[in-house]
Amino acid sequence: MRQVILAEPGKIELKDVPVPVPSEGEVVVKVNTALTCGTDLKAYLRGHKLIPMPGPFGHEYSGTIAKAGKGSGNFKEGDRVMGVHSAPCMECGYCRKGLHNLCEKIMEKKALGAFAEYLLLPAHVVQLNLFHKPDGLSFEEAALLEPLSCIVHPYGKLRFDETETALVIGAGPIGLMHIAYLKMKGIKVIVSDFFDDRLSSASKIGAYRTTPPHDVEEAIKETTGNLGVDLVIECTGQQGVWEKAVNYVRRGGTIVLFGGCPAGINVTYDTHRLHYDELTLTGSFHFTPQDVKTAYQALTEKIIELSSLISGEFPLEDIENAFTLLIEGKGIKYALKP
Ligand SMILES: [Zn+2]
Ligand SMILES: [Zn+2]
Repeated sequence: MRQVILAEPGKIELKDVPVPVPSEGEVVVKVNTALTCGTDLKAYLRGHKLIPMPGPFGHEYSGTIAKAGKGSGNFKEGDRVMGVHSAPCMECGYCRKGLHNLCEKIMEKKALGAFAEYLLLPAHVVQLNLFHKPDGLSFEEAALLEPLSCIVHPYGKLRFDETETALVIGAGPIGLMHIAYLKMKGIKVIVSDFFDDRLSSASKIGAYRTTPPHDVEEAIKETTGNLGVDLVIECTGQQGVWEKAVNYVRRGGTIVLFGGCPAGINVTYDTHRLHYDELTLTGSFHFTPQDVKTAYQALTEKIIELSSLISGEFPLEDIENAFTLLIEGKGIKYALKP
């Protein structure tokens, strides 16, 4: 089979490798759609600590079961499936506390290599995080299960009854999915970004109001009175933006720091703002099996509409064209069709 290998940053090779054979509990998926993601782009540009090189990559997929190992539950050859690439061990100290996204082994045995004709899924992923794809949902949308699971994660802790307005900073693929999710929850979402075409994507997917960064305070004032938004979702991963994010929220509000900064970056906050205004700052990493279920339900019951995120498709051998477009800022996500 053909498999895309990331040899080193900026260098992709298409290799011919044997089709994997599933052991007990495992399945092999014939990939129908693999989506590009910000993580893949980062790995392609400068490497990524969670994607070993040289090696296969791509982790957002949907397809059909080509071969099911013994004991792979209710999955059999020919089933159309959608899933994520990792699952918690259910045994470590974090798993025992129910903090499954923070599992010590979550990244140990994951399924990397969706940019290929076939993808082998480990037994614990099959058991916890693989689902049947209903006929009414396209393979392209089904492949959004993994990123949507990440998006859903921070909202598990949020009090939606107190949340009427939100600010999403940064309207890339991740920001756009937050907008769609918040809109689904009936929240008015203000969106700030430097680029006009991203802001128009934000409007299309459900933003209440869009604004360039220099007018964000004005937009918040007009939308919330002098209160500030109930919730800020930071999606840029930039130090300066992380620091500014606390300025936009009302007293008692929440700031979700979703965009990861490079390692070693420190930020500074006004202690009075945090203390007297009782702000909640929270990070967000990965997802739990419950988040995957929530995302699956949102997609399959069509309560969220994300098809506008997919800007086009390419055969596997043209994967570099997809990355080139993303580097040029063109398009949101691309579907690879092996
Ligand atoms: Zn991803
Ligand atoms: Zn664990």
